[in-house]
Amino acid sequence: MTAQSLQNVEPTWIEMVWEMVTFETMIKVAIVYFFIIWIAVLVWVIKDISNRTNNIFLQIFSILLIVLLSPLWVFFYLLIRPGKTVLEKYYQEIEDNLEILSSIVKDKVDAGWETTDCTTCGYELDVDFLFCPGCKSKLRDACVSCKKSIRKWWEVCPYCGENQKGKRKKSDKKKKKD
Ligand SMILES: [Zn+2]
Ligand SMILES: [Zn+2]
Repeated sequence: MTAQSLQNVEPTWIEMVWEMVTFETMIKVAIVYFFIIWIAVLVWVIKDISNRTNNIFLQIFSILLIVLLSPLWVFFYLLIRPGKTVLEKYYQEIEDNLEILSSIVKDKVDAGWETTDCTTCGYELDVDFLFCPGCKSKLRDACVSCKKSIRKWWEVCPYCGENQKGKRKKSDKKKKKD
């Protein structure tokens, strides 16, 4: 084989590809790759920050952070971004309001339903109990005037305003006499 015949040999496709893979093309590919990542990070930050805040200044700051500096600043962005998305905040607010509401309702119900403990034995009593299940003591009496069921120790009937104290003793005495 002479030098002349070597030059005439067609290069194989592997040789052609290998000729293209120079240091320069590797740098070019790396730069293109870097810009693709940059754009991807930027798109993600724009979506993320608009989900997390309606504050336009914070949105612009976050976007400029990536645009003007580099996609590596996404780690800094992760540190400074609001912890919760707007939707999460919204649900948190609803949850908080529901808690307040339920505590108000609970207070109202407790006040109305009057689940008090028995003064004698400590048994938890519902409002309509007539006798304590714990110590069997009588909890309710009929009002001396309107005959509605009221607490035994109430001095005035909440329905008709009749004073109970003296009259009940009298009515009890009357009953004893009868
Ligand atoms: Zn009791
Ligand atoms: Zn009454």
